[in-house]
Formats: sequence, structure tokens, C-alpha cells
Amino acid sequence: MDQLQKPRGTKDILPAEQAAWSFFRSTAERVLNGLSFGKINTPLFEDKRIFERGAGESSDIIEKQLYLIKANKNEENDELALRPEGTAGAARAYIENGMSSQPQPVRLYYFGTMYRYERPQAGRYREHNQLGVEIFGDDSAESDYLAIMSALEILKKLGFSDFNVAVNSIGCPECRPKYLKKLKDYYADKLSKVCPDCKRRYDINPLRMLDCKNEECQKFKTQAPQMVDSLCTECREHFQDTLQYLDDFGIKFDLDNTLVRGLDYYTRTVFEISAGNDKERHSTLCGGGRYDNLVSILGGPKTPAVGWGMGADRVVDLLKDNSLKIPKPRGVEVVILEIGDAAKKVCRQLFNSLDKEDINVFYIPSKLSLRSQMKSASKLGADFALIVGQQEALTGSVIVRDLRSSTQEDLSISSAIDMIKEKYSATSE
Ligand SMILES: [Zn+2]
Ligand SMILES: [Zn+2]
Repeated sequence: MDQLQKPRGTKDILPAEQAAWSFFRSTAERVLNGLSFGKINTPLFEDKRIFERGAGESSDIIEKQLYLIKANKNEENDELALRPEGTAGAARAYIENGMSSQPQPVRLYYFGTMYRYERPQAGRYREHNQLGVEIFGDDSAESDYLAIMSALEILKKLGFSDFNVAVNSIGCPECRPKYLKKLKDYYADKLSKVCPDCKRRYDINPLRMLDCKNEECQKFKTQAPQMVDSLCTECREHFQDTLQYLDDFGIKFDLDNTLVRGLDYYTRTVFEISAGNDKERHSTLCGGGRYDNLVSILGGPKTPAVGWGMGADRVVDLLKDNSLKIPKPRGVEVVILEIGDAAKKVCRQLFNSLDKEDINVFYIPSKLSLRSQMKSASKLGADFALIVGQQEALTGSVIVRDLRSSTQEDLSISSAIDMIKEKYSATSE
């Protein structure tokens, strides 16, 4: 039979990598719980209109990257799609679960897999992991600050020290159309020189021309009119407030007028955080912004909101590459080796006493020789082996072997238990 393989653009996360992943998740949860974010899980797939309405049909993720699910013919007509990002589903859940009638703001976070039909050669995954936060129901700059600060806080607690925070405001439905007109006027006589993607964007979403990565489009971006000059009074004040917060709390940032984000639902603040001193944003770890109209676009009450998504795969890769301090997970700590049936009773007693103390005890009686059992005990990575043979069973004693130093001593059952307990009570938190 031929060997089957995982789908393109997916990966396995093997046991050796799990320590980095759980360090990432537990650190994020600790920070976010501490800032009064509540965790939410939403389905991996939704009615595809949830994604289309919010993101805008001209956005790449809807146009080219949405994974549609062929639903069973006999069921409803719903067309379902795997979620390409977390915000639309969270907004749908906020509306559907009546969270708008709870005290505002409602702060949510999630962790999960997202799906985009990317070209595999770009080295990007079709299934990737994302951490995200959403703050619903507050239009003040305080929440824009909290969003940016929470992402930085997580990265700091993970051990990163260097960031580049890029910020921009892309205005609101009031002021943006006027800016878009200026932008189109500017690009009108340059259309023959921009890339095919930008030619298309010119008509459906000219803002995206500003973050085009193609070489031929770069030279036009510097001279292009800037959104910040066209903001309405409310948007300008909101942007100033946001920057003031960042300043007040010592968060360094760069104003970047080409930062627009890929999704149509963003309004006002947009930001990206990259690692190191990466002003070109080649290694963006986290991106987000304000989306004051998404909830109403999805049929809910008018609700301002701001949030971000963090590419967990990239963050975890960096954690591993930079060998930042990823705590070692607790594995097997103590192995009980039962040599012969006479030892059974003592071994059970040892197991029960240590298991109760939350020590990781591995005890599976084996018919193998002491020698081969010792070998497998070492392979398990245990610190201690408690060996009970016929002789020990008769005298009520235990051989306690320190597998790291290869020393051993004979102890009574109760002293052996006490000694092991003491070892682990001293080292555990
Ligand atoms: Zn505005
Ligand atoms: Zn272009």
C-alpha cells in the first residue's frame, strides 16, 4: 500500500515541540486572564457569509483564500467555510449570545487553528494557529491601548525584548471616502506602472495599494497622500488619544502611513507588532486594529470594537530559535520496579502514597529482568527508581536508586516515601 501523507500546508506538532507551545499558551492565558479577558471557543467553521460580509469580498482572504466546505446535499443550504481568522466568529458569538446586554466592554480571547488556502511555495501554512483578543463595546482609545499593551505584555513574558510597533489610523466611513478619492486621483496617471494586483485594487480597494509588496509599486507609495491628513475631527482626536496612551506608558511606536491591514472591516486604529528592529514588518508577529462596524454589519447592535491576532506558529518558532527560557514539562519522576509477585503489595503501597502527593509515578509491573527494567526506567527519564524484590518485600524495605547519580540506598518503606515526598515538595512551586 502506498503511504498516505498530511495535506499540503499542514504540519504535525510533535511531542518535542509541545513544551514551547504550552509555554506560549499558558503565558498568554496568564497575561490575558490578569487583564480580565475571558476565553471563548467558537466553531472551526461558520456560515461563509460571516466572513464575507465583514472582511469584504475584495480582500484576499475572501477572494482567493477561503476554504469552502461541501456540505451534505440533504442538509440546509448553508454554505460553510473554515474560519480564515477569528474576529468575525467572535463578533458573531458576541451577538448571538447576547453579550451586548452584559456590562461593556466585553473582553474576549481565543486560541485555535485558522485556515487559508495559501500557495504552498510561499512557505505559509494552510492551517495555522492563532491567538487573538477582541474588546467589544468601548470606543475610547483606552481599549486601543489595552489591546496593544496586552500583546506586548505576552511577548515580553515569553522573553522577547525587542519590538517594532507600527501604528496608523485608516479613518471611518465618514472621512475615508474623501481620502480614497485623493488616493485614486494620485494613482490615476500611474496605473500603467503598478502591478496587476494594484490595478485591480484601484477600483475595489485602493487603500490596499499602500501595502503592496511588489517592487514596481514601492516608489509610488512615498509620495502618496496620507490618511492621517484626511482624518475627520473625531478620528483625529481618537488617534491622538491612542498615541498619547502609548506615549504615557512608554510604548515606543512608529507612525506608518502605509499600514492598512488586509481586511475591510477595520476602522481608525490599525497596528502591527514585529520582532526585533524590523521596520519593514517582515516578521509581523501580531496585527490588529479597531473595527467599529463589524458587529452591526453582522446584524448586531452598533458596537465599537478593537482586537488583534497573533501568529502562534511564528512566535513559537522564534521561541525555539532563540532558545528563550521554555520551561521543561514534568515527565515521569519516579519509576517503581516490581521484581517478582511477592513485591506486589509493597509496590501498590508505594504507588498509592506517591500518586496522592501529585508525584508522577510510573508503575506497570513487568515480567522482564531487573536489568531490562532498569534500562527502560532510564529511558523514561525518571529521577528515581524504587526497586522492590523478594528480599525487600520480606524485610519491608525498598531500594531507592537515584538514576541521575547512579547511587542507591536501602530504606524502610516509610522513609523511602518520606524521602521522595521531600524531594518533590522542595522543587515544586
Ligand atoms: Zn473619521
Ligand atoms: Zn502593487
